[in-house]
Amino acid sequence: MEELELLIDLHKNAFRQGPGGDAETEMAIDLAGLNRNVPLNILDIGCGTGASTLILARVLNAKITAVDFLQDFLDVLESRTRSLGLEEKITPLCASMEELPFEDEQFDVIWSEGAIYNIGFNKGISDWRRYLKPGGLLVVSEITWTTSSRPSELQSHWDSEYPEIGTASSKIKAIEDNGYSPVGYFVLPENCWLDNYYEPMRYNFQAFLNRNKNSEEAQAIVKAECHEIELYEKYKTYFSYGVYVAKKLFS
Ligand code: SAH
Repeated sequence: MEELELLIDLHKNAFRQGPGGDAETEMAIDLAGLNRNVPLNILDIGCGTGASTLILARVLNAKITAVDFLQDFLDVLESRTRSLGLEEKITPLCASMEELPFEDEQFDVIWSEGAIYNIGFNKGISDWRRYLKPGGLLVVSEITWTTSSRPSELQSHWDSEYPEIGTASSKIKAIEDNGYSPVGYFVLPENCWLDNYYEPMRYNFQAFLNRNKNSEEAQAIVKAECHEIELYEKYKTYFSYGVYVAKKLFS
């Protein structure tokens, strides 16, 4: 089996595909000042199986276009959407975040949790800006250093995994440089990583290995995930996801 298929198999039955939490999604809704009664047109980019999409649909009066480039994840999102009776509010769309099929200024809100690193933070916030209406809000989570310096083992891991990792001030500067006005920022707490993401994943490793006949490729994926979890547990003071809220003030 291809590595991508194995990764899909590992992650598609999880409630979320990255660190986050229902309460933190709601906190970001409040930080953005979104009125829960006003109709909103929202784009959720890199939605996975819908961790944030389903909360947005439940608490807001919104039409949400939920984009991911993996149809397997969208299939799970569709069945969750149906079981919650939210079909009227959520439209799944299989597309790449690098080539989005939308008109300029179509959305009131662009939401993206744990996904923008796939295109890169700077490129993402720059490319996606045009889809927001003037006055529209961007809510995006991004891996962030929580201190100004850090141990070299951790630095070199992230230098090779995602060199765009930076401090909150560098992310907020990027937000300003790309034509948004920063509204607010908070850091995801530890339970968003361990209880909500890593522990459920760890719990599923054995079943994943069994399903995939303990193949070398499957073992390599488990090993890589375990390494990431170990690094998190060892160095969690030094990094987390930051959740950034920003406003596009004008066209
Ligand atoms: N927002 C979800 C998923 C985060 S994981 C959550 O918080 O649980 C990142 C997601 O981005 C995955 O679902 C992955 O399939 C998607 N993704 C990665 N590269 C992409 C691309 N180029 N275009 C669209 N989606 C992409």
